[in-house]
Formats: sequence, structure tokens, C-alpha cells
Amino acid sequence: MATVTEPARETPLVAEAEVVVLGGGPAGIAAAVAASRTGARTLLLERYGFLGGMGTAAMVTNFCGLHAHINGSIQQVVRGVADDILERLDRLDGLNPPHPVKDPAGGPGTAAQAYDTSAYKLAADDLLQSAGVDLRFHAIAVGIAMEDDGIDAVLIETKSGRAAIRGEMFIDASGDADLAHWAGAPCAKGNADGFMAYPTTMFRLANVDDDRAMTEGKPNLSALIAEAEGDYDLPRKTGIINPQAHKGEWRANLTQISRDGAPIDGSDWDDLSYAETEGRRQVQEYFRFLRDRVPGFENAYLLETAPQIGIRETRRIVGKTVLSGEDVLSCRDFDDRIGCNGWPLEQHQKGVTKWSFLRGRGYHQIPYSISLPDGVANLLVAGRCASTTQDGQASLRVSGPCFAMGQAVGTAAAMARQAGATPATLDVAALQDRLIADGAFLGDASI
Ligand SMILES: Cc1cc2nc3c(=O)[nH]c(=O)nc-3n(C[C@H](O)[C@H](O)[C@H](O)COP(=O)(O)OP(=O)(O)OC[C@H]3O[C@@H](n4cnc5c(N)ncnc54)[C@H](O)[C@@H]3O)c2cc1C
Repeated sequence: MATVTEPARETPLVAEAEVVVLGGGPAGIAAAVAASRTGARTLLLERYGFLGGMGTAAMVTNFCGLHAHINGSIQQVVRGVADDILERLDRLDGLNPPHPVKDPAGGPGTAAQAYDTSAYKLAADDLLQSAGVDLRFHAIAVGIAMEDDGIDAVLIETKSGRAAIRGEMFIDASGDADLAHWAGAPCAKGNADGFMAYPTTMFRLANVDDDRAMTEGKPNLSALIAEAEGDYDLPRKTGIINPQAHKGEWRANLTQISRDGAPIDGSDWDDLSYAETEGRRQVQEYFRFLRDRVPGFENAYLLETAPQIGIRETRRIVGKTVLSGEDVLSCRDFDDRIGCNGWPLEQHQKGVTKWSFLRGRGYHQIPYSISLPDGVANLLVAGRCASTTQDGQASLRVSGPCFAMGQAVGTAAAMARQAGATPATLDVAALQDRLIADGAFLGDASI
């Protein structure tokens, strides 16, 4: 490839913080709030002008993984900072009660909770500002400066030009393991064949006749899509469609974006650019199908397409511990637990979503050590790029466990700094005590 040589330059150091968080998705939100509340001067960098990550930018509009089915009842297993978000959303009239999520294999299933994206943006602004986080929007991180075996500064591009932000501890909540990758920490992508979960362009509809649409629970989309075969171009044969907090408004998680037969790579600029128009093309096709073929949707209109293609999976760090799909399914406990997760493996395969629900008690513990990248002394990683196998990520990537991991790493970064430790040498029992005192649920020995 031809190249252009740029002149060497001095980069202005525009801010310093004790903890620097990259990314304002569920992991970054919880990390920044927790670090600040634990006493660290905390700065959060986000490329968009709002928080929420995939939850707002990709219009996910639904919290999964906050709940688990435990011994016959649905219980909330992610608490702490997640409660602060839920409470604010509720006050803004932007939160539905939990709705059931069925296990196609006939098991007891679980629950998820729909929210309004605008309310989520407001709730997150309020939460971070009231926690005293220095919020820096419209800043895209493009690299780092290293010092010894740690990160010294993050390099950002802004409308005012390139700049550097120096920190003592760094948290990678970019979803794509950007900081870890730039710092040279080992990362993986996809399964053994390189396959990553298919992305989706989300959309919302308004003016749906809720009563007709909810006849018999919810539209049987798989059957209706099968009946429509040949009349429409619908690559995904199963899908998820749910009512939102307000009358007549539904969210549609239906498209499936591929290029040359394979899922696009959400860490590749060219693939991302291609996926946006392909996603919106599919939205039109699914919308046409819904209006023509699904009871209650005859007079619906397209309210909004997501600001960006929804990316489920890109890089994951290969950390001290790698959480596997079997760890999730077998409800495994860990000595270094920092939270819990009960979401099934939700694998977005060609044409379909494969669901595998947890066996036994209904939740597993999340180990702290999946947040520790190899070889970078002052970096913690949380969210969908934490250290898991590809099938483990199919469960752990959803919002609930991302909130739990975020709270844990934010607290850990602040505590490690105060103790003169690194994240890897931090006293984990002290971290667990602090998380419990701050309202987190780490699992209950009696269940
Ligand atoms: C289509 C789709 C449907 C889904 N459905 C659900 C659902 O119903 N319920 C659920 O709970 N989960 C769902 N998920 C999964 C969930 O939304 C994500 O996995 C979760 O948001 C991951 O959180 P995160 O904080 O790790 O990363 P993200 O949410 O991806 O947030 C990362 C943030 O970092 C910012 N960022 C990244 N790189 C940079 C950079 N270099 N510089 C500056 N900023 C940067 C991004 O703008 C973003 O705000 C869905 C995902 C998709 C794609």
C-alpha cells in the first residue's frame, strides 16, 4: 500500500486524570462512576456526543443480563451502579417492567427490560455528572504513548486537533479492546475459524396496533418469515421484536449484516462503512414485510434507524483467566468473583440466533481476572472485549454483566492507585468488600 509521511509533531497534553476510561457504553459508564465514587479523579473519553455505547448508538433499547432465573423465580443479579441507572430511567418514564424471555428448549427462560434511548442518554449524563466524572465527548482515541510497561497517555483526535490525555490508571471499555491492542496485549477475534457474531442494524417503529400485535403473546416471526420466503430478501429467519415503553412503539432486532457471505468485522473501517448502507437496505425490506404480513403492523411507520450498525463482537483480550461458554452454562463460581451473570449464550449464526440457557442455579460468577490484560501494568478491561472465549462472549457481552464488570474495574483502578498497587496485585478480598458495600451482588453462598 502507498504511504504518506507525516511530519513529527508535539502533541498538546490537554488533561490529566488519575483514572482515564475509554468508552461510554455500559462498561465505561459503570467504571467511571465507580472510580470517581471510590475517590479517583476520573475522566471519560467518548467519540460520540452521548453515553450508552451500543445501547444508544446502535439503539439496542433493551437491558439483558440484569436478571436470572433462580430456583423458580426471576431475580435481579446485577445491582450497584446498574440500580442507579434503572432508578433514573424510571423517573424519566423511560423504563418498562422486565418482560419474559423464552427458552426455545422449554426451560424456564429469563427476563429483559426495555428502555427509551433518549432517557438513557439523560440518565447517564446525570449519573456521571453527579459522580463528578470529567466527561469528554467528541474525542476519538487513535493511539497511546507507553512508558515502561504501562500506558502514559491516550492520543485523541478532536475538532480542535490532536491531543493527549495523561493518566495513572486506564480502563479499556471501548468494546473493541482498542487500548489493550495498541499497548500490545494479546487479543483474539472470533472462534477458531475467525467467525464473529453477525451485526445488526436496529430500527424502531411507531403507530403499531399493540393489541393486535400482542394477540397470542407476540407475533410468531419465524413462522411468518418462513411463509414469506421468496417474496422478500430477509437473511435472518428468526428475530426479536418487542414493544417499548410508549404506546405503539416497537423495537426491531431483525437484520443480519454480512459481506461476501460472512459477518462484517466491526474493527475494520471498510467493512463498517459498507455495513451502514447494507443495514438500512435490509431495514426497508424487513419494514415492508412487517407492514404487509404481520398483524398489528399494517399502519406502522419507520420511526428511526440506529445511528450506527450494531456490533456484537470484535477483539477480546486474552487475559489471566478466559471465561468460557461452559463456565457460563455450568454456573461456575470463582474465588475472585466481582459480579454475576445469568444471560444465556446468544449466538448470532447465519440466518438464526442459537440460544443455550444456563443449567442448574441460573447464574455464574464473573471473575476479576478476565479484566487483566497480559503485560500492561496499569490497564483494566471491561465489557464485551473482556477475556472470554467466543461462546463465553455470546453471554457476557450483554449490558447487565457489562455494568457489573465496569463497576468492578472502576473500583479496582481507584483502589489500586490509592494502595500503590497495580490492578494485578490488588487485594481482591478488599475489592469484593468494597463492591458489596457499594450495593453490588457477587452471588449468594446459599443459592
Ligand atoms: C444489534 C445488537 C443488539 C443487542 N441487543 C442487546 C439487548 O437487547 N440487550 C443487551 O443488554 N445487550 C444487547 N446487545 C449487546 C450490548 O449492547 C453490547 O454488547 C454492550 O453495549 C457492550 O458494552 P460495552 O460497554 O462493552 O461496549 P459498547 O456498548 O460497544 O461501548 C463502547 C463505547 O466506546 C466508544 N468507543 C469505542 N472506541 C472508541 C475510541 N477509539 N475512541 C472513543 N470512543 C470509543 C463507543 O463509541 C461506545 O460508546 C446488543 C448488541 C447489538 C449490536
